Amino acid sequence: MIRCPYCQVDIATRTEVCPLCHKSLTEAGVAKEEIKKTPLDFPKKAHLPWLAGTLFDKVYLLVALNLAVVLIVAELLVMGKIYFSWFILSLVAYFYVFLRFTLRQDNFFPQKVVGQAVILSIVALSTRRFLPEPEIIFELMLPIIYLISLIIIGIFLIINYKNPSRYLLNVITIALLGLLPFTADMLEDATAHPLAIATAVLAGVTLITLIIFYARVIISELKRNFHV
Ligand SMILES: [Zn+2]
Repeated sequence: MIRCPYCQVDIATRTEVCPLCHKSLTEAGVAKEEIKKTPLDFPKKAHLPWLAGTLFDKVYLLVALNLAVVLIVAELLVMGKIYFSWFILSLVAYFYVFLRFTLRQDNFFPQKVVGQAVILSIVALSTRRFLPEPEIIFELMLPIIYLISLIIIGIFLIINYKNPSRYLLNVITIALLGLLPFTADMLEDATAHPLAIATAVLAGVTLITLIIFYARVIISELKRNFHV
């Protein structure tokens, strides 16, 4: 049995962080050997290997892999460089991630929105060097992704305004991302597209509103999630 030096609670399972006050037990002077001696009181979280999916996943990945090889080789032979295959293959890869990690995983809805926004950003950024006008990534694609995500997740927060603690960090993540296209656009050519400006303004207003109304909840959520 471990005892938390801060809140004096007895902890009956092996952990380095107090489940009550979230402070680090080793930093507070609890011996590592003592923690190791305490048995785990709950089953270990099952880790699903990356490649272990359904039959559909396996067939999909196999077809995608073959398609990738055929497309890249064909385009390299005909055009001498990779262009169209990159777009097709990123869509194929994106669709897989969407099916496997957004639709089928029973994550929390706001987490799915954040996950989608991040994946779509990676797809958009990966096409940057293949686009004839790469500015559209910061001027249109990323602002649209963050604007839509911010609206969806904002509606979710408004509906659940009485119990916002579980959604706040997701909204803040999207709002912080929403500031990026404007910043990148400014750094790129010292002017910003109206859509990038609109996204940054909405993101900024969201951040300020959340900080004004929920500062305390945000701090306690950060502490709970990052054990600080
Ligand atoms: Zn404690």
